[in-house]
Amino acid sequence: MPILVVSDIHANLAALEAVLADAGPVTAVWSLGDMVGYGPRPNQVLERLQEIGARCVAGNHEWAALGRLDLAEFNGAAAAAAEWTRDRLTPASRAYLEGLPVRWDDEATAVHGSPRDPIWEYILSGATAQANFAHFQGGCCFFGHTHVPAAYRTRATFKEQYRDGRVDPGQRLRLSSEHRYLLNPGSVGQPRDGDPRASYLLWDPIASEVVWCRVEYDVAATQVLMRAEDLPDVLWQRLSVGR
Ligand code: ZN
Repeated sequence: MPILVVSDIHANLAALEAVLADAGPVTAVWSLGDMVGYGPRPNQVLERLQEIGARCVAGNHEWAALGRLDLAEFNGAAAAAAEWTRDRLTPASRAYLEGLPVRWDDEATAVHGSPRDPIWEYILSGATAQANFAHFQGGCCFFGHTHVPAAYRTRATFKEQYRDGRVDPGQRLRLSSEHRYLLNPGSVGQPRDGDPRASYLLWDPIASEVVWCRVEYDVAATQVLMRAEDLPDVLWQRLSVGR
């Protein structure tokens, strides 16, 4: 059975539930940060992740909700949503977030942004990816933060990375021992690659294979909740278009 790797759920419980149902039986769930922020159900998402025993790293939105980041580093809508989230976290949710690491390194490395700068760096190009291979040891590092599914490998030719690492839904990748990999599952709760469906990745460490998946969820239901909470319009509008 595979390991389910998700990122950037962003308090979108409907999207998370759709992914859990679509992924089927898995041995573990890894969540690469930004479980909260933007979306309307931060506490419920954290409760659900704990219920299924998910392993989570903290991202910039967890740190913002905990007051560890200056909200001046966020754009207006993101800052407003971060304040909204911070005000609504239950003591139990806050305690859970306080205990999250920013990375682990065992079967694979897991971070939110990049192994070089786990909270903030965006890996959006082959050049940034190549610079990050020196910052972890094993064969595989899973990362999120960009909300765009992607794959980079060491010693890749220019042609292999001509689209800046982007991968398509349903794409499979055999992980060769001759390479090392940086792999992004895309975003569950706020995709930004033009496809509004929730994105996730299944990793089979025995077969040395990953596959990227997409699943539709009830976007309108999440939008209704966001409007009811008076979250900034741009945040619910973008869910329809995946931007
Ligand atoms: Zn995010």
